[in-house]
Order: sequence, then C-alpha cells, then structure tokens
Amino acid sequence: MHLSFISTRGQAGLDAPSVTVEVHLSAGLPAFQVVGLGDSSSREIRSRVRAALISSHLKWPDFNITVNLTPAERVTPGTRFDLPIAMGLLVASQQLPRDAIEGREFIGELGLDGCLKPSRGALAAVLAAAQTGKTLCLAMEGSPHMANVEGSRLIAAPDLLSLCALLKADDPQLVSPQPTCPADTCDYPDLSQIRGQPLLYRALELAAAGGHHLLMSGSPGVGKTLAASVLPGLLPPIAPATQWEMWLIRDLVGLSRVSGPTFRAPHHSSSIAALMGGTAKALPGEISMAHGGVLFLDELTEFPRAVLNQLRQPLESGEITVTRAEHQHCYPARFQLVAAMNPCPCGLADNEDGSCRCSPDMIRRYRQGASGPLMDRIDLHVKLSKPCPEALLSTATTDNRSARLRERVAVTRERQLSRQGCLNRDLAGDNIVEVCALSTATRAGLIKALAALDVSARNAHRRLRVARTLADMAGEERVSMSHINTALSFREAP
Ligand SMILES: [Zn+2]
Repeated sequence: MHLSFISTRGQAGLDAPSVTVEVHLSAGLPAFQVVGLGDSSSREIRSRVRAALISSHLKWPDFNITVNLTPAERVTPGTRFDLPIAMGLLVASQQLPRDAIEGREFIGELGLDGCLKPSRGALAAVLAAAQTGKTLCLAMEGSPHMANVEGSRLIAAPDLLSLCALLKADDPQLVSPQPTCPADTCDYPDLSQIRGQPLLYRALELAAAGGHHLLMSGSPGVGKTLAASVLPGLLPPIAPATQWEMWLIRDLVGLSRVSGPTFRAPHHSSSIAALMGGTAKALPGEISMAHGGVLFLDELTEFPRAVLNQLRQPLESGEITVTRAEHQHCYPARFQLVAAMNPCPCGLADNEDGSCRCSPDMIRRYRQGASGPLMDRIDLHVKLSKPCPEALLSTATTDNRSARLRERVAVTRERQLSRQGCLNRDLAGDNIVEVCALSTATRAGLIKALAALDVSARNAHRRLRVARTLADMAGEERVSMSHINTALSFREAP
C-alpha cells in the first residue's frame, strides 16, 4: 500500500493542535502536490524535501505524490511540516518500516543538505506531545532545553539520515533534560542609579508594588529611559504559568528563553502588526513579548493614534486577538505599561531660559496626542524636572536597592492578591471603594478633596487605586487621608 499517515503539530496561538500528514503515491506521471496549498508553496516544499532526501542518500519516490494536511483549518503554512512529509514519503515508499513511526510525532524544517533545523513554536508541540504521552522527533539544536518539559519524550537528531537510523533502533535514546538553569536572567540597572529624583523614585516603587501603569513627562535627559529600564528589576519573579506563556511566545518569534520579567521598548515607527501581533503568519507582537514584564513606549505622542487606541483592549483583558487571512490567534499580553513624553514638541518647555519656541497651540496639540481613553488606564502620571547637579555628583549610593525593594514589592503584591485576587491596578470601579475600607472621616475628606480638584469619577478611581497601594506598602488595612493626599499629589493632566 503506497499510503502513510504521520502525526505532527500545527500552530494556533500558543497551542499546538494535532495535525495528520497523509502521503499517497500513485502510478502516473511523476508529480508532487500538497492539497490545499498553492502551487508555489507546494513547489517550495517539494524542492526542500527532495533535496534533503537525495543529499541523505535516500530515494525520491518516482510517483504521482499527493500530500494532504488535515484538518486543514489547523494548518498555517510553514516549514515545520518538512520533516513529517519526508517521513511520510519514506514510509509510503517502504524505505522506512511502519513501526518506526508508531506512537511518534514529527516536527522540523529540512535543509537542502538533509540537516534538521529547529522550528519556531516547537516548544508548544513538545508540551502538547508530552500531555498525550507521545514521543516527538525533532532537530537536535535546542532540544535539551525542550527536554525540561515535564513528561516529554524526545528523539533528536542533527539530520534526516541519523534520525532514520535512530527510529530503526529497538530502543532509541531519548534526549535528557539540561541539568543547569533552563534560562538566562536579565540584568537591569539598579534603582540606586536614579539620583536626585525623589518623586520618580516613589513613583517606581508604587508602580512596581501595585502594578500600576506609569506615564512620565519631562525634558530629554531627565532620566525617563533609565527609570523605565529599572522597573523590571523591581518586579518579583513571574508565576510559573506566566513564565511558560512567555517562553512559548519567545519560542514562536525565535527569541531565546529568559527567566523573570522582560523589558520591551518598541520604536514609535514600528508597524501596528509588529506592535500588536499579526504579521503574515499571525505571530505575536511586542505587546505579547512584554507579557509578564514591562512595555516601554518612549515618545508616546509620536505613536500613531490607531496604535494607542488598540492598546486599550489588551490593557483591559490581558490578551490580544490577532487576525490574518483565515487564521485567528489569541496571545497573552498582560504587561506593565511605562510611557514617556516630552513637555512640548521641542522638549524644552520646562527650561526656564525661554529656549522653547513652541506656540501654545502647538503644545496643546502635542499633549492631545497622549490624551484620550488610553490615559484612563494609566494610574500614575509623573512630571519630572532635571535633578540638581549636587545629586548627580554625589557618591553616596547604595547598590542592590532594587533587590531589597523587590522583596518588599513581593510582599505588597501578595497582600493584594490574597485580598482581592488581582493587583490594585486591575481593581474594577465597584470594588475599589470597598477594598479601600475608608473611615467616615476619610470618606468626607476625600469627597472634599475631589470636589476642590474637580476630578471625574474615573480619575477618582485611579487615585484611589494608588492610595490603596500606598496603604498596602505600609501594611495598613484601611486607606487613610495621608495615603489619599499622596496619591492626589501624583496625577496631573499631561
Ligand atoms: Zn518647545
């Protein structure tokens, strides 16, 4: 029978659903067609697989070859199906015994010389295969990392011929897990590098402790970028489930594994697809790569309005749905947003020497770029000024401040999670007042202060969320008037 069925894995978001490759050889003029894929995709697959077989001293079957990938809706075109198609051809043409593929799945790209290359998204396939108890055959490169997945059974080879030899063996050796730490840790600047900026220091502490999004405005050179890159170093270790999601995302886009929160700083000229996700293959974008970490948008007003509007949905839901052609994928995107902007188009409006030549109308239009619904999600707004020269020159710095603060942040976050199941940033309107546990006197004081400042209800909620974090940092059950006053001192219109 010139027919074979090979199990492999497709890609749907972070999942790797099961896909079967059917290979049929029939008499007739030699030809090769992959059902459902266009002629050019079929030709590309044929070229790679044919060259790989011939380079491996294997025979390209001289038949009319039909390949079918099923179910079709789980198939995103890509090179991951090279290896399963090659295996199908070898089994159908009886160059490889059928029991060599029993209970095994295959994934990988083939080089023209027959080498096996790792596929993006293979980690998801390893997880899925481990859950079903199947053995997965894949490229040698990167496989020890993959073997760290609990319950995984992997057969890895550097090329097609070695893999065939392994599969014919009675009891092929499985890849052993890497004994060392599975991922690198990122290094971030220490909090002690921020000098002479007590307000910024406090804002970073609060942002880390309550998960609040942060907007900094100030002239170029006041340290906005430094501050943003300090923040991930203040965040406690990521929960294991989030860490896995992060690794799956990085594996899909071809980035190495790192442990702990990541820092992503996309440029304002990046395309919407690069930021939100959804390039030709519906891959995750920057906001998903920042999952569990920090997304820094420098020069916020330079980002297209459409991009800023689209950020609202992931900020609410912690995920993004990416649609490209007939494929729709959902990716996690729960990140902490840090944004920075100048006070005016030239950036000099805060200087007292009058060097700014921007008209009030220009400044108004510039600041409008950062207003609107996105701002409703940003609890902390900080206006920065240049630190005094003495502070910059002082040598009285204490290293490892980040590490010490990180421990306090972890305690504060734990307090929030055990009380309400989410960070203070994610408190919804109805819950905020309840969890603040205001006394009658504090409630009266708050109403008076809000009336004096003429703030909207949404704005009041943002400030209460920050006040709640201040109370949590102090380990207090109730939010007091002093917490509210500090919270009120933070936010100002951009
Ligand atoms: Zn200006």
